[in-house]
Amino acid sequence: MRKTDWHIHSDFSDGQLSVEEIVRKAQKLGLQSIAITDHFDPYDRSLRNRTAGEDELLRHFDRIRRAGSSSSIEVFAGIETGSDMDGSMRLSERILSQCDIVICSPHYLDLEKEGRSVFDAEYWSHYKTLLLKQASNAGDVLGHPEGYLPAPGLEGTTFAQRQEIRAEIAEKFLDEAFYRQLGTLLAESGKAFELHGASGTPRQWVVELLADLGVCFSIGSDAHDEAFLGKNDRAWRLAEEKELKIKNPLGKRRFEICKESR
Ligand SMILES: [Zn+2]
Ligand SMILES: [Zn+2]
Repeated sequence: MRKTDWHIHSDFSDGQLSVEEIVRKAQKLGLQSIAITDHFDPYDRSLRNRTAGEDELLRHFDRIRRAGSSSSIEVFAGIETGSDMDGSMRLSERILSQCDIVICSPHYLDLEKEGRSVFDAEYWSHYKTLLLKQASNAGDVLGHPEGYLPAPGLEGTTFAQRQEIRAEIAEKFLDEAFYRQLGTLLAESGKAFELHGASGTPRQWVVELLADLGVCFSIGSDAHDEAFLGKNDRAWRLAEEKELKIKNPLGKRRFEICKESR
């Protein structure tokens, strides 16, 4: 099984490590293929680097590729971005054509959070609609669909508390009927479902159901610091055990789907 991590943040967005540090540490950890996928989404009000322009991003890509070419591992340049409620990413062709991988994640809804409870049924129904739209729309990977839920009322909670709340929301709202719908759309579009290292999601029955429906997967720790870099043991184990179809980047948004047993 190849050691891969195609979802990593550097200090270009909200990660702690520089591009060069990530590449060096990834190599040391024995990772064979990584993608540095910083946030790039001018519409996401929560982002620190929201004002970063296209030229800045392309210079960042150059830096990633330079760091990659002086290392012995495969290093890809990509982004993680959000979408509007129709699942469109609102990014220019100039940017998209320079990405090796584009993760589109459900980071926010066009729906006021204020005054809503964590288990607001209307809110989660909109969330599911967004995922279905994203499943059949642009982007190569659907990022952490049940990992980092943009739940209302999470202010002041710790990472561990949020993890528990997210698990409860998933139990309550992201059910089998929903995943059948999502899986059918993903299988049609060829977009990968992310096995998310930082949150250890999705639940195993979800992986099995999606695999049965013919969905392919992407592997990403979503590391923002050294501690999470390459933390994909669960995904690698599942990929091998369940003979999952993995969407391997080849560069410039070309991919090869294969069952990982190397
Ligand atoms: Zn994300
Ligand atoms: Zn991320």
